[in-house]
Amino acid sequence: MKHWIATNQPSHLDDVRIRDLLELVVGSAGVGVWDWHVQTGEIVLNDLWGRMLGYKLEELDPIHIETWFNLLHPDDLVTAQRMLAACWQGETDLFRCETRLRHKDGHWVWVQDTGKVVEWDARGRPLRMVGTHVDVSHQKETDQRLKDAANLLSNVLNAATEVSIIATDPDGIISIFNKGAERMLGYKAEEVVGRHSTATIHLAIEVEQRGEELSRDYATLIEGFRVFVHLPELYGSETREWTYVRKDGSHFPVSLVVTTMHNEDGQIIGYLGIAENITARKQAEESLRESEARLRGLFELSPVGIALNDMETGDFVEINDALIAPSGYSKDEFVHLSYWDITPREYEAQEAIQLESLRTHGYYGPYEKEYTRKDGSRYPVLLRGMRIYDARGRAYIWSIVEDITERKRVDRMKNEFISVVSHELRTPLTAISGSLGLMLGGALGPVNEGMANMLKIAQSNSQRLGYLINDLLDMEKLVAGKMQFDMQVQPFAPLLGHAVEANRDYGTLRQVELELVEPVPEVLIRVDSIRFQQVLSNLLSNAIKFSPEKGKVSVSAQVKSGFVRVTVTDQGAGIPAKFRKRIFQKFSQADSSDSREKGGTGLGLAITKELVQRMDGKIDFASEEGKGASFWFCLPVMRSPVKKQPAEHSG
Ligand code: ADP
Repeated sequence: MKHWIATNQPSHLDDVRIRDLLELVVGSAGVGVWDWHVQTGEIVLNDLWGRMLGYKLEELDPIHIETWFNLLHPDDLVTAQRMLAACWQGETDLFRCETRLRHKDGHWVWVQDTGKVVEWDARGRPLRMVGTHVDVSHQKETDQRLKDAANLLSNVLNAATEVSIIATDPDGIISIFNKGAERMLGYKAEEVVGRHSTATIHLAIEVEQRGEELSRDYATLIEGFRVFVHLPELYGSETREWTYVRKDGSHFPVSLVVTTMHNEDGQIIGYLGIAENITARKQAEESLRESEARLRGLFELSPVGIALNDMETGDFVEINDALIAPSGYSKDEFVHLSYWDITPREYEAQEAIQLESLRTHGYYGPYEKEYTRKDGSRYPVLLRGMRIYDARGRAYIWSIVEDITERKRVDRMKNEFISVVSHELRTPLTAISGSLGLMLGGALGPVNEGMANMLKIAQSNSQRLGYLINDLLDMEKLVAGKMQFDMQVQPFAPLLGHAVEANRDYGTLRQVELELVEPVPEVLIRVDSIRFQQVLSNLLSNAIKFSPEKGKVSVSAQVKSGFVRVTVTDQGAGIPAKFRKRIFQKFSQADSSDSREKGGTGLGLAITKELVQRMDGKIDFASEEGKGASFWFCLPVMRSPVKKQPAEHSG
C-alpha cells in the first residue's frame, strides 16, 4: 500500500515545505486526493479520499483503479468515462465531473471529481493523472431543495388556472405570468415575461382616469404603472375592479388585488397582481337589476295592494299605490303608521292565528279582515301572504291585500235580490200549489183524466219551484249569517235513526232500499237537530235520487279521533271527475238536464256544507265513476254530557 505523502520523495527543502503546506491545505479543506498511473491502473489515495466514503485506506486494499470504478454509481459510469476520454484526447485540459460514490454505509456521496493528466508518453498517451475529490452532497441537497421549492411555487401558480397571477419588478415589467393569466389573456408567459409592462393588458383610458383621480386625491402626479401601486405601497394592498384587454383586443372585467413584495431588508422588490374574471358576476348583477326593474313595474302597477313588512318589527318596508289608495293616507303617512293604526283591535285573535301559520308553515291566509281608513271608517280586505328571508337571514312578510269593498257590495245586492224575489214568489206559489191541490182533490167538482194529468204536472212543477225558493232562502240566510242554530248536546244514535226513517218513504217510492248499518256508536254530539236532519235528508235524497232502480243506499257511522263520521253510500253512477271540484258550489249540477229528469236545484250540497261547517263539522265525498258515491260528514263528539247551551247565532 502506498500513501500520498510517503510516495513523494523530496528533491530539496523547498519541496518539502511546499508539500507540508499542500498537505495542510488539502487536509483543512477536506479534499480527497488521487494519483493514478493510468497504464498500470495503480492508484494512490490520501486518507481523506477514503474517509469521505467511510473507509480507512487499509480497508480498501488492494487499491487499484477498479476500486474507484467499483464504488462509482452505475448511472455515472458513462459520464465519467466520456469525460476521461475527452481529457485524454486533449479535448479538455481538465477532467471534471460530478459523480456518486457508494459510502461504506450504503448511501451515495456526491463527489466533485477534478483531475488532470500530468504525464504523457511519447505517443501522446496519458501515463499519470492526479486529481481531487470534494464532497458536494450538502450543496447538491441544497440545490435540490431550492429546485423543489421553485417547482412547488411554479406548480402552485400554474395550478391556479382560474385566477391570473402576474408579478412585476419595481418598474412594472412582468416577471411571472401564470397559466391562469395565459388562459385569461391569451398571451404565453414567454411572450410577456421580461418584455412587457402591465400596461399591455390594461385599458389605457381607464388607467388615465384612475391616475387623474389619484393625483387629485394625493396632490401629486400619479400616472402609468404608479396608478396600480400607489395605494398598495401606502396600505400594503388594494382591491379594485379593472378592465383587462386580451391579446385579441377583447375586454373583460376583473377584480384585481395588488400587493407589494419586499426583500428581507424591507425594500420593494416588485408587485403581485391577482385578478379574477368577474364577467359572470357582473352579468348576474345586471340580470338581477333587470329582473328587479321588471318586478318593480309589476309591483307599482298592480291593481292589488302589496306590502312587505319586517317580520320582527312589523315595519312597512315596501308598499305599492294600490295598497294605500283606499286608506286615505299618503305613502309617507302610511309607512309611519303602526300595525294597530290600520287594523281594528277586534282582529287581534285572528291576527295571532295568521301569524302562527306564518311561523309554522311560512304562509298565511287567505283571510278577511278590515282596515281602518284615515277618517276612521273601515273597509273589508282579503289578505294572504308568505314569509321570505333576505341574504342575512332576516325574515320579511310579503302580503297581497285585496280591497273587497266592491265584491262585498255586489254579493250583498245579489243576495238581497234573491231574498226579495224569493219572498215575493213564495206567497203566490203557496196559493197556486194549494189551489191546484184542491182542484185535484175534487173540491171544484169532478176532474177528468186529461185535466187531472195537466193539474198534476202543474202541481209538481209548483212544488219544485217551492223547493227552489226554500233552498234559496236557506242559502241567503246562511250567507247573511241569519240562520239560527239551536245547538244541543244529545245522543247521536237516535238522531241518525230518525233521519233514516224520515227518508225511507222516498226510497220506497223510488224502489231503493235504505239500510242503516249497525252498530251505531252511542256517543253525544252537539248539534241543532233540525239542521242535522236537513243535512242527512239532503245526502239521502241525493243518494236515492241518483240510485238505480232496486238499488241500495247504506248509512253507517264510526267514531274516530274525537269525531263521529256518517257515511251515505249509493250504487249510482258516481260523480264525474270533471265535476268534483264544483260539487259543493251553489247551483252546480253534473248534468243540468238532470234537474229535469231527477229534480233538484243544485243548492242542496252547498247548503249542506254550510250547515255542517256551522256545526263545527266537515263534509266530503269519495266516488269512483260508475261505481256509486260515498258522501260523509264528521261532527265533534262530546266527551261528557255538557249543559244545555243557549241558542247560538252564527256570523
Ligand atoms: P241537487 O238539488 O241538484 O241534487 P245538490 O247540490 O244536492 O243539488 O247536488 C248537486 C249535484 O251533485 C247533483 O245535481 C248531481 O249532479 C251531483 N250529485 C249529488 N249527489 C250525488 C250522488 N249521490 N250521486 C251522483 N251525483 C250526485
